[in-house]
Amino acid sequence: MFYHSTRNACEAVDSARAVLEGLAPDGGLYMPEALPAFDWRKCLEGSSQEMATMILSALLPDIPDMKALVSKAYTGKFQTEDLTPTVKVGDFTVLELFRGPTSAFKDVALSMLPQLLTAARDVCGQEREIMILTATSGDTGKAALAGFRDVPGVKITVFYPDGGVSAVQRAQMVTQEGNNVKVCAVRGNFDDAQTGVKNIFAACKGQTPKYSLSSANSINIGRLAPQVMYYFKAYRDLLDRNEIKLGDQVNYSVPTGNFGDILAGYLAKLLGLPVGMLICASNANNVLTDFIRTGTYDKRRPLLKTTSPSMDILVSSNLERLLYLMSGCDTELVAGLMTDLNTNGVYTVPENMKAAIDKEFWAGCCGDEATAATIGKVWREQGYLMDTHTAAGWAAAEEYVRHTGDDRAMVVLSTASPYKFPSAVLEAIGGDLSGDEFAQMERLEAITGVPTPANLSGLRGKTELHPGVIDKDKMLEFVLSL
Ligand SMILES: *Cc1c(COP(=O)(O)O)cnc(C)c1O
Repeated sequence: MFYHSTRNACEAVDSARAVLEGLAPDGGLYMPEALPAFDWRKCLEGSSQEMATMILSALLPDIPDMKALVSKAYTGKFQTEDLTPTVKVGDFTVLELFRGPTSAFKDVALSMLPQLLTAARDVCGQEREIMILTATSGDTGKAALAGFRDVPGVKITVFYPDGGVSAVQRAQMVTQEGNNVKVCAVRGNFDDAQTGVKNIFAACKGQTPKYSLSSANSINIGRLAPQVMYYFKAYRDLLDRNEIKLGDQVNYSVPTGNFGDILAGYLAKLLGLPVGMLICASNANNVLTDFIRTGTYDKRRPLLKTTSPSMDILVSSNLERLLYLMSGCDTELVAGLMTDLNTNGVYTVPENMKAAIDKEFWAGCCGDEATAATIGKVWREQGYLMDTHTAAGWAAAEEYVRHTGDDRAMVVLSTASPYKFPSAVLEAIGGDLSGDEFAQMERLEAITGVPTPANLSGLRGKTELHPGVIDKDKMLEFVLSL
């Protein structure tokens, strides 16, 4: 099975090289030429680790010993052995993706990526050390640090915007231990940090004197593929609870930023899982809602700061993979749309493509006030505490059901622990906001009785190992000095 760029079908690479390179040389994203035949019924019979092994072996067939890699990635690292538990809350089922080492859903993929990347390096016979460069607006940085910590042959540098992440998120990163990790704040906003990282890749052409550079971003198929598993897992849980029969379609509502998570749901469907509608949930940065509703993607708008910062985004990278699939793998068309986006900030897809998207995807968005109202309502009525991103997913699911009357089972993906955003969650349930975020965490626990994940409460008082702050034009120098 070969992979090629979403913008050009001529140059094919195997799956190991696709993982190792991350991004195709023309700037497109790697996609499989065709999906393999897959026994989805058999996949549903296994444990979460067995599901992951089967799916990853199918999608990345050139990476050997997948079972051992999956075991190394996940065994003993998550709160529950099934990795991604589900909870029945009212009419919906919440799929808890935040039970990993950093309490963010990105742990599911970033626990696996280091295993895939180092295995891919061996397959490709590359001997140089890999330096992972990551700019983060909060969650990716910590999940990547935890995943890559002490992985032999790999180093990782994380840049975050100075003053641009929450106190908890900063504490998670600056206290990171490990002999191969570096963390540094950049004076500027997230865009400055992200542009700085892209400039380093361009200036070094992917290589420094010591390292070959790589990214932990969801543009890498090795980060996307591990996310397919939990769509199967949620389906299996619904079967086990007799809420559905084998073959019934299930809808999934997904809090969305870079479109990686929801695209993994569509890949699950292409592998045979009976997925009904995929609901793309956004916050006030509703560029994706507008796109799915109108067929026009228009990034010419201000980026708003919201209480669900992991979805604050204007350019959603993995949407390019959807365009590729929905155009019938028309790389020329995708390349044209991406040029439109880069030069004019806007593109419109052809009618038939819009119709194809409408069959599979629905979109909803909700501002900070509605997000808070949703958290408050679900807590009061169901006794279930959710974070701000999950609340956007819940609100979109409710809006969808109201709008369509669709009564198929609904899974809402929960992408972060409420304790990662204690201030917004505490306010939403009417708690007093005094004190710092750690005091707020304690109060949230006292009011709700929902335990704080140990990885978060344990941050208080931990030694800051990476207190540095640099100007954005010093980022390359910082990397070269390592
Ligand atoms: C990253 C993230 C998302 C968005 O996921 P995408 O794959 O980028 O669409 C949603 N919620 C949380 C909490 C996240 O960290």
